Amino acid sequence: MIAVVGASAAGLTAAQTLRREGYHGPLTVIGDEDRMPYDRPPLSKQILSGAWGPEKVTISSTVDAEWLLGVRATGLDLSARRLALSTGNTLEYDGLVIATGVRPRRLPFGQDLAGVHVLHTLDDTLAFKADLATARSVVIVGAGFIGSEVAAVASGKGVAVTIVDPLPAPMVTQFGPWVGGLVGKLHADHGVRLRMGVGVTGLVGDDRVNAVELSDGSTLPADVVLVAIGSVPNTEWLAGSGLSLSNGVDCDSLCQAGPGVVAAGDVASWTHPAHGVRMRVEHRMNATEQAVAAARTLLGKGEPYAPVPYFWTDQYDVKIQAYGTFPAGARPSVAAGDVGSGRFAALFAQECLITGVLGWNLPRDTRQLRTRIGLRAPDARPRESADSSLTTNSASP
Ligand SMILES: Cc1cc2nc3c(=O)[nH]c(=O)nc-3n(C[C@H](O)[C@H](O)[C@H](O)COP(=O)(O)OP(=O)(O)OC[C@H]3O[C@@H](n4cnc5c(N)ncnc54)[C@H](O)[C@@H]3O)c2cc1C
Repeated sequence: MIAVVGASAAGLTAAQTLRREGYHGPLTVIGDEDRMPYDRPPLSKQILSGAWGPEKVTISSTVDAEWLLGVRATGLDLSARRLALSTGNTLEYDGLVIATGVRPRRLPFGQDLAGVHVLHTLDDTLAFKADLATARSVVIVGAGFIGSEVAAVASGKGVAVTIVDPLPAPMVTQFGPWVGGLVGKLHADHGVRLRMGVGVTGLVGDDRVNAVELSDGSTLPADVVLVAIGSVPNTEWLAGSGLSLSNGVDCDSLCQAGPGVVAAGDVASWTHPAHGVRMRVEHRMNATEQAVAAARTLLGKGEPYAPVPYFWTDQYDVKIQAYGTFPAGARPSVAAGDVGSGRFAALFAQECLITGVLGWNLPRDTRQLRTRIGLRAPDARPRESADSSLTTNSASP
């Protein structure tokens, strides 16, 4: 019997792969959300904007398995190969796939006030969307990619949008100050107010939030607040199991976490064979690719998992695509298009090696440049700096 815990992108792909690779035995998928697997990337884009109805996010391809939905795995006995479930039942397995993903990090204060939201599930999104419909102002706490995408959608609805983050620019942790500056300018050009370099110290309101207090002593009025300050791997149910949980579920390069146990997706960290470092990737493509690798390992067909990580985000009419890695201090150089036209692709290099490519409304060149990752960087100096003018209403790809 193979059990898959987590019924989302990685869990579904693992189950599909097991069947496709010839596993015909009993297969059980356990998921604590009470719905079939659905895609999260459209939540902060098409679902929030209203372009899509909720039914469009369901991942239509399914798999022959027993689905225990609305059921939580609460414990793991590694030596007995047994799961404890929230129903009070236990489930014995021969092989286990852990695909429990992450959940949004919350503020230590004010998070329970009405009008304060996080955005991870379909229900989160529909509740936030409903609140946004009558709001005049929204404060977004956190300028990562989810906060930035939500700012883009909310500003299109005529709501006054402010993003607050102690860091100097949006998405700066992911892609560094140069890209952060460009994303910041993109938002400013669309009328979004950026309060970078300040933290949130309090949420004000009796039952419902009405303002946000900042570390510089100022206060922002807010009808609605979105907290988008990163995420936490769902590993609590594995505490005491004997699995190593230093960065999500720690795996080796084959995605093995323990005897008969593999992990995949946002919850799994593994040692990337090409980089020699432990990585945990919270991106949609990795959920699929790593689930395939982990399922194959469980069937004895494993190979070291060595992907080129891929990520995209859509903000206004800009599609940003990123392949590879973007270590702190990696130097960008524009290799195709130009920043001023709003269509470019830049290589990022560290110690003379190309580690990643980032495209801004230039998908074909970005894809082609991806083959340069791992090669020597010809010129690591940026050809254009972050204060080059950026046209944001360029044609979409
Ligand atoms: C709003 C939003 C927008 C995004 N946009 C993009 C994007 O534009 N590009 C991109 O590359 N990535 C994006 N992502 C990230 C992408 O969606 C994730 O990388 C992907 O969903 C990870 O899939 P997963 O199956 O590993 O984890 P998850 O999708 O988090 O699923 C894990 C599942 O396990 C369940 N679970 C947790 N604990 C238990 C338990 N103990 N028992 C049973 N079930 C449990 C959870 O409830 C959940 O259903 C976005 C994510 C969000 C939230």
